[in-house]
Amino acid sequence: MAADGRRSVIREKAGLEVLDIGAPMDVLWMRVSKHPSDPSQLLGRIEAGQMLVMIDRGDYWQCAYLIPKGSLERLKQEGLQAFRAKLARVAPFLGDRLEELQSWDDIKLLTVAVDRLKQWYRPGLLCIGDAAHAMSPAGGVGINLAIQDAIATANILGPGLKRGPVGPEQLALVQKRREWPTRMTQRLQVLLQNRLITPVLNSTQPVSPPRLLRWLAQQPLFRRIPARLVGIGFRPEHVR
Ligand SMILES: Cc1cc2nc3c(=O)[nH]c(=O)nc-3n(C[C@H](O)[C@H](O)[C@H](O)COP(=O)(O)OP(=O)(O)OC[C@H]3O[C@@H](n4cnc5c(N)ncnc54)[C@H](O)[C@@H]3O)c2cc1C
Repeated sequence: MAADGRRSVIREKAGLEVLDIGAPMDVLWMRVSKHPSDPSQLLGRIEAGQMLVMIDRGDYWQCAYLIPKGSLERLKQEGLQAFRAKLARVAPFLGDRLEELQSWDDIKLLTVAVDRLKQWYRPGLLCIGDAAHAMSPAGGVGINLAIQDAIATANILGPGLKRGPVGPEQLALVQKRREWPTRMTQRLQVLLQNRLITPVLNSTQPVSPPRLLRWLAQQPLFRRIPARLVGIGFRPEHVR
């Protein structure tokens, strides 16, 4: 079994063919403390050329700052102070605590990859999780899919493994069950990349979301759909 993540050595050594879907951005992850007076329910902030996603972790914000792919070195050359100033522009209420980011070591680079294996298995080997499909951070669903793959694998292969080795036709059943939710999730992520993230990162003028999206965001039923897709996904799994 290969569950060794997005830079899987096993999938590479096994020579499994990768379909590289690509992503226009990388993500800088960092923590900034949260104050009681901060706005609540804050998810994303958009400015010309900038996008910051903030996840409420109780006493701190987990912040994801999107940058055009491969542009970290340029940011570093501009200096940490200039980077803090960019963050303060996109989220002014953070301005009083950005000194918490004391060095570039406090800022972790996620080199975004979106890909999936054409075939997740070969005799004696099955890839699951990021090793089978690296996900975009859009939606933060990489962990969900990895766990769902593991549950599906246990459900499908568990009974057979109790009796002995399983053959490729059983490994194929795992791919058959998990490939569809993976493709659908990646399709949505690519849509988000192309329609929202790339235009924002390339913009020099203030950007507002398309009118249809703004209208849909006001509809209670529509607001439930992304929550369901992120929390539960296209095909939930239950341990049998
Ligand atoms: C900075 C960052 C932030 C993220 N934030 C989110 C988030 O908020 N929400 C979300 O859903 N997803 C997030 N993700 C993605 C998420 O972490 C992955 O989608 C998920 O962990 C995939 O699980 P996995 O078990 O397939 O691989 P991993 O969690 O990557 O686990 C692979 C394991 O294999 C081990 N390994 C690798 N190579 C070897 C080797 N040669 N020998 C022995 N062991 C090896 C690694 O040490 C690791 O423990 C984030 C990823 C990063 C990098």
